[in-house]
Amino acid sequence: MNSIQLEKNISLANFTTWRIGGPAEWIAQPKNIEEIQYLINWINKEKISCNIIGAGSNLLINDKGIKGLSLCMRNFKGIKIDKSNGIIEVLSGEMLPTLARKAAASGLHGLEWAVGIPGTIGGAIVMNAGAQKNCISSYLESITTLSLTGEYKILKGKDLNFGYRYSLLQDEKLIVISARLKLTLGHAEQIRQVTNENLSHRLKTQPYTAQTCGSVFRNPEPLKAAKLIEELGLKGFRFGGAEISKIHSNFIINANKASSCDVRELIKYIQKKVLDAYGILLETEVKQCGF
Ligand SMILES: Cc1cc2nc3c(=O)[nH]c(=O)nc-3n(C[C@H](O)[C@H](O)[C@H](O)COP(=O)(O)OP(=O)(O)OC[C@H]3O[C@@H](n4cnc5c(N)ncnc54)[C@H](O)[C@@H]3O)c2cc1C
Repeated sequence: MNSIQLEKNISLANFTTWRIGGPAEWIAQPKNIEEIQYLINWINKEKISCNIIGAGSNLLINDKGIKGLSLCMRNFKGIKIDKSNGIIEVLSGEMLPTLARKAAASGLHGLEWAVGIPGTIGGAIVMNAGAQKNCISSYLESITTLSLTGEYKILKGKDLNFGYRYSLLQDEKLIVISARLKLTLGHAEQIRQVTNENLSHRLKTQPYTAQTCGSVFRNPEPLKAAKLIEELGLKGFRFGGAEISKIHSNFIINANKASSCDVRELIKYIQKKVLDAYGILLETEVKQCGF
C-alpha cells in the first residue's frame, strides 16, 4: 500500500517564496523514488497534467491556481559526499544552501557562492542558478531524470545546453531526480570563511528576508537590470501589494498581500519604462505558471 498523500485544492502560496498563488487541483510531496513512480503512473492513468515545483523560489503562480498535479519535490532529499574524489551525489529536493554548507564542512571547494540561493538542486539545475560569475553547471557531471511517461535517462552536463540561467530542461519537461557533482578538495576553514562572507554580503545587498523570488529580470548582459531600473528612480514604486525593493531594484517584494496580477502589472510597467528609456526589453527570469 502506498503512503503518499495526494491532497486536493491546496493553496500554492505556501509553496513559493513570494507567498503568492492559488490552489493546486492536486498536490503531492514525494519523499522517495517509489512515491514519485506511483505519482507518474497515477497521472498517466488519470490523464492528468503535471507541474513540477522545487522550493518555489523562482515561480509566479496564478491566483487562479494550477490544474492537474503539482509535484512538489522539496521533501525528496539526500546527500552523499565522497571526500576522496570530490564527488557528491544529491537528490533533487535537497536545498542548495544545505549542500553548500555540507560541501564546505567536508573541505570541498566550488559551491561557496551557492549558500544564499534558496532553491532546490533540481530547480538550480533547471535554472542553471548562479552567483558571482559561478553557476551550478560548472560543477555538474550528470543528472538522472524521469520523464512524465516513466522513462529514466542519465544526461551529462553537455547534453543540457546550459547558458546564462538556462538549461534544456526549461523546454523539455523532465523530472530531475538526482545529480552528480564534482568539487575539488580545498582548505576547510578558508572555504567556510568565504561561504560565510558570501552570505553576509547577500544579507546586506538584498531584501533577503522579504517575500520575493530573487531577481525578476534576466540581466541584458553586459548591463544589469537592477541598475537600469534604479536609474529610472523606480525603487519603492508599488502596484497594489507588489513593490520594487528599495534595497535591490531587480527584486519585487510581496509587501502587502500582493496578487499574481499585481506582480504581473508591475513587471509590465517596469518593462515599458526600461524599453522607453533605453530601448531594451527586459526578459523575465522568474517562471510563470498557470497563466
Ligand atoms: C532571496 C532570493 C535570492 C535568489 N538569488 C539567486 C541567485 O543569486 N542566483 C540565481 O540563479 N537565482 C537566485 N534566486 C532564484 C531561485 O532561488 C533559483 O532560480 C533557484 O534555482 C530555483 O530553485 P527552486 O527549487 O526554488 O525552483 P522553483 O522555483 O520551484 O522552479 C523553477 C523551475 O525549475 C523547475 N523544477 C524545480 N525542481 C525541479 C525538478 N526536480 N525537476 C524538474 N524541474 C524542476 C520548475 O518546474 C520551474 O520551471 C533567488 C531567489 C530568492 C528568493
